[in-house]
Amino acid sequence: MTIRNQEQALGSPGTAMLDLVSRLYPICRSITGDGVRETLEILSEWIPLEVHEVPTGTEVFDWSVPREWNIREAWIEDPHGERVVDFADHNLHVVGYSVPVREKMPLEKLRPHLHSLPDKPGVIPYRTSYYKETWGFCLPHETLQSLEDGTYEVCIDSTLEAGSLTYGECLLPGESPEEVLISCHVCHPSLANDNLSGMAVAAFLARRLQAGPHRLSYRFLFIPGTIGSITWLALNEARASDIVHGLVLTCLGDPGPMTYKRSRRGDALVDRAASHVLADSGAEDRVIDFFPYGYDERQYCSPGFNLPVGCLMRSQHGTFPEYHTSADNVDFLDRDALEDSLRNTWRILQVLERNAVYLNRNPKCEPALGKRGLYGETGGMRRGEFDELALLWVLNQSDGEHDLLSIAERAGVKFETIAAAAGALAEAGLLGPAGNR
Ligand code: ZN
Repeated sequence: MTIRNQEQALGSPGTAMLDLVSRLYPICRSITGDGVRETLEILSEWIPLEVHEVPTGTEVFDWSVPREWNIREAWIEDPHGERVVDFADHNLHVVGYSVPVREKMPLEKLRPHLHSLPDKPGVIPYRTSYYKETWGFCLPHETLQSLEDGTYEVCIDSTLEAGSLTYGECLLPGESPEEVLISCHVCHPSLANDNLSGMAVAAFLARRLQAGPHRLSYRFLFIPGTIGSITWLALNEARASDIVHGLVLTCLGDPGPMTYKRSRRGDALVDRAASHVLADSGAEDRVIDFFPYGYDERQYCSPGFNLPVGCLMRSQHGTFPEYHTSADNVDFLDRDALEDSLRNTWRILQVLERNAVYLNRNPKCEPALGKRGLYGETGGMRRGEFDELALLWVLNQSDGEHDLLSIAERAGVKFETIAAAAGALAEAGLLGPAGNR
């Protein structure tokens, strides 16, 4: 079965992405450990994924790869022997990277290890403690308040030992060695918008790219946040210069409008391409400047690399009430939003693929379009892909200085329309290449 047929058999891409998210949701992921491996194994059913294991202790710039964390069970039993909190019910119940513990203690001694959100009493918060050795549980505030005094038994059966950091990489070579980096984090446990939505959109983009030829090469990274991108950059420093465009994908399934955070450079082609596509989808006011917080764009855009990598999302982290709580679950995701995110990301990639600078070969006055069959009867015009005005814009601006995207911006026309008009003009011999941008 071809990929396209397979997708059709699965229904809409939105439905298929939601199915993938639902499968990945119950897995307990962290920055290392078997949860990441299991996640990558499922993703590799969809796309060719090379799984890398980087040993604990590997020096990566100013950091070192941490010990590997795995967990089997964790619970709290109240004075009557009732399990009031159980990791088996929800993996957010345990603070990520908790060290093992098996102890009986009074509630007062247990309390500092219990985390809840008094202003959102019905949900479990998400907490981690990667770099400080401690243990803890997260629970709804209403459960915390119902705990009576007495002796509690706590158990966290976890291991924190030498192992490795696991990440997945999918390279799709194109005609050009120039690369587009697509990066998403895979280190959050049961959180759907923050982590799984990015993975689903990335996997579906990779499948689409695989289905046809592409000019640029694409490198997809499925990595733990922060330490994963630092590790990749440290181990692939020489390759980083091949990255000419990049997107960090996150929070792409909530019902909010699209948001694009520019790269540190601010005026890279990917920044202009994303602004153009977002403006066209009615989210022109959702293009924001770079700031050194958020996701792995922080590392890709650190001054020693300064890669042209922006961050594409819908609602920004921390701005939706479900963020980093058990309410960021599969039900929170919107199928149409996921599909819209995939569509817009694909359009951005198409701008990167097709943008070019042309030279008008008949620059002295307008060429006679009619005698070249470009007046109304061309296939493209017939199909509504472009009109006469698009042809005139391309001819007028193609002086070897203006790329197609800037022509689209100036004309206030979709990039696709300008690119189709340029294709017809090139076919008619009226445009010559002046290089890709
Ligand atoms: Zn997060």
